[in-house]
Parts: sequence; C-alpha cells; structure tokens
Amino acid sequence: MIPAVLPTYNRAPLTFTEGRGSWLTEASGDRYLDCAAGIAVNALGHAHPALVEALTEQAGKLWHLSNLYRIPEQERLAQMLVDATFADTVFFTNSGTEATELAVKMVRKFWHAAGHPERQTILTFEGAFHGRSGAAIAAAGSEKMTAGFAPLMPGFRTLPFGDHEALNAALDDTVAAVLVEPIQGEGGIRPLPDACLKGLRAACDRTGALLVLDEVQCGMGRTGRLFAHEWAGIAPDIMLVAKGIGGGFPIGAVLASERAAAPMTTGTHGSTYGGNPLGCAVAARVMEILTDPAFLAEVNRKAALFRQGLEGLVAAHPDIFEGVRGAGLMLGLRCRVPPADVVKAGYAQHILTVPAADNVVRLLPPLTISDEELATALDRLDAAARALAPQAA
Ligand SMILES: *Cc1c(COP(=O)(O)O)cnc(C)c1O
Repeated sequence: MIPAVLPTYNRAPLTFTEGRGSWLTEASGDRYLDCAAGIAVNALGHAHPALVEALTEQAGKLWHLSNLYRIPEQERLAQMLVDATFADTVFFTNSGTEATELAVKMVRKFWHAAGHPERQTILTFEGAFHGRSGAAIAAAGSEKMTAGFAPLMPGFRTLPFGDHEALNAALDDTVAAVLVEPIQGEGGIRPLPDACLKGLRAACDRTGALLVLDEVQCGMGRTGRLFAHEWAGIAPDIMLVAKGIGGGFPIGAVLASERAAAPMTTGTHGSTYGGNPLGCAVAARVMEILTDPAFLAEVNRKAALFRQGLEGLVAAHPDIFEGVRGAGLMLGLRCRVPPADVVKAGYAQHILTVPAADNVVRLLPPLTISDEELATALDRLDAAARALAPQAA
C-alpha cells in the first residue's frame, strides 16, 4: 500500500526532534553532528537565537500580506540584496525551483522585448540541478529527472561539463542565455574554475547572451564570499538564490540587473506567498549576519582548517577516498566506494552528510560550526572510513 507520504524519497530511518546549532537530536536522544544542514539551508545552524527572535517577533505582528500591498520587510530585504550585489532589483519566491522558473521567463521576455523572440535557447550543463519544475528539469536535462515526464519544455540545450570547444561552438548570437551553477551541488561539488566563469562572462558579452547564475546552493556565504561568483570578479545578469537565504524558512529570490529585468512589468509575474513578511523578516536577519565581513572571514578561516583535515582524511584512507573538492564550507569527498555507503557509515558514527552525483559525499555544515565541531566531524568521518575499510580491501 502506498504510504500516506508520497514515497519519492529514500529516507534514512532517523527521526530528529530538535536542533541546536550544529547538532540534531534524534527521538532516541542520540545527538548527530549536522554536516548536511538541510542541504545548505541551515546556514546559521539550528534555532539560531537571532533567527528565532526575528521569526517570533514578526509572527506576533503580521504573517502574510498579498503583494497587492506594500510590504516593508520585503522592501528592506530587497534593498539589502541590491546593496550587497550586482543586482538592481529582486523578486522573492518560496523556493529555488520557483526562482529558476522566473529566470527562464525573464530571459524569454528580455529577448521578446528586444525584438528577437526567436532567441530562445538557454544553454545548460551536464550534472546541473535547477529544481524539479517543468522548466527546471528541462534545464538540467538529465535522464534521472526527466524520464517519464515528456513532453519536456523546449528551449534548453545541455552541454558537456568543462568542454570549452562544445561551449564555443554552441554559444553564438542565437543563444538567449547561459544558465550555470558556479559550483554544481547535486552534480557532485564540481566548481567552475574562476577562469571559466570569466571566460563565460566574456563570451556572453560578445554574443549578447544573458548570464544566469544559479547560486541556490553555493550562495549566501557558503564559499566564504556572499556569492560564489564574487571570487571570479564577474557579475551575472540574473542570479537565483534560495536555500541559505532563509536559514530554514522557505524563501528564494531572483536578483537581476535593471537591463535584464526591465521587460518584467506589472502583471508579467506574481506569487501569493513570495516575499511575505515572515520570510523576509527572517532572511533580513540572515543577511545582516552574513554581510558582516568578520563573519565571512571566520567562514574562510574554518574552511581552510576543515579542508586541510579532509586532505589528511583522504591520505589516511586512500581506498575509500580519492580527493577533496569545492570551496569554503561547500566541500565534496570524492569516493572510491559508493557514496551512499559512506553516508550510511556516517550515520552509524552520528554524523550527517549528503550524497551527490559523480561519487561524491557532500559536506555542508552550518557556517557557524565551531573549530571543535569540525574536529569532531573529522574524527567521525575517520571512524566511518575505518568501518568501511575491510569492505574496500
Ligand atoms: C536545491 C537547488 C535548487 C532547487 O531549490 P528548491 O528550493 O528545492 O526548489 C535549484 N538549484 C540549485 C543549485 C539547488 O541546489
């Protein structure tokens, strides 16, 4: 019999009832070190006092208001994002998927308004993940996500990852936009080197294609800058944000330059819940904390420490691990055994990690994780690898 909850997830038999900082408590009372953070959502850990305060304060005032009225919390958050980034304007969504949907609409509208409605192709890359809606699965193009869901939305072309020749051949003046994650998350923590991001920006400038960056997973301080593309010194035309921005409250956003967004006039898009006072109050508090240079300096310091420890872990278990990749506190352990086995062995050692494609286990701890907790994470990963060792031999 089908369970009451549609079984589209393969769930671990763990039932958490409480979270504090980097720790989750299971129904049994056991505590687990959370290096998954809800897949980069709980950027400030669980139950961060400042976020609890922002949420409860707003909850006592006003939860929901239609976008038919002005929403001061939304205006304030939008201004914070505009001040901190390339963007001139922001639309708030409830998720990353919805941000992808709007970005696709914005790109199409842009070329329609520019008198080139035939410019429809959006280039994407193998291993990409942009969400689960019709447009988002068509954008990712992977068999795993699209099988059985035909007809797919037209207008997307998936290119091999890291194939410069294929990109140069495909990116001409018929292309509407390039949609890419600066670091692929689901695809296995695969970073686009800074030089490639720069090259992509230059190629888009040459052809007129809009550069759309999906920073849903790699943004919001995850790499040690507010947004990952900042490391490359470039700016996109449109950027998708979600996950970390709400610190656990569901909220996403599309950030855009005035030029890219100008055709999105009254009536062209909307959302019942997008930009509601509760979500915006929480996200504004997240932004206040993340835009403090001292906070990001700490993320970078801890990231270097963690990465060094992980390199040691790889060296100690060459039969289990192949290498470390990623940036900041968005790190991947490439495995020589099935990553699901490593994640499971981690559960036995009371540490949560996340599997990804390309034989990678993702480590996405809260950005607030302490040095001591990082050391504990390394110890537990070491124990998990030792438990797996006889099997690998
Ligand atoms: C998670 C994710 C999405 C989808 O976000 P949802 O909030 O799950 O809809 C899109 N892009 C990337 C890069 C993601 O990691």
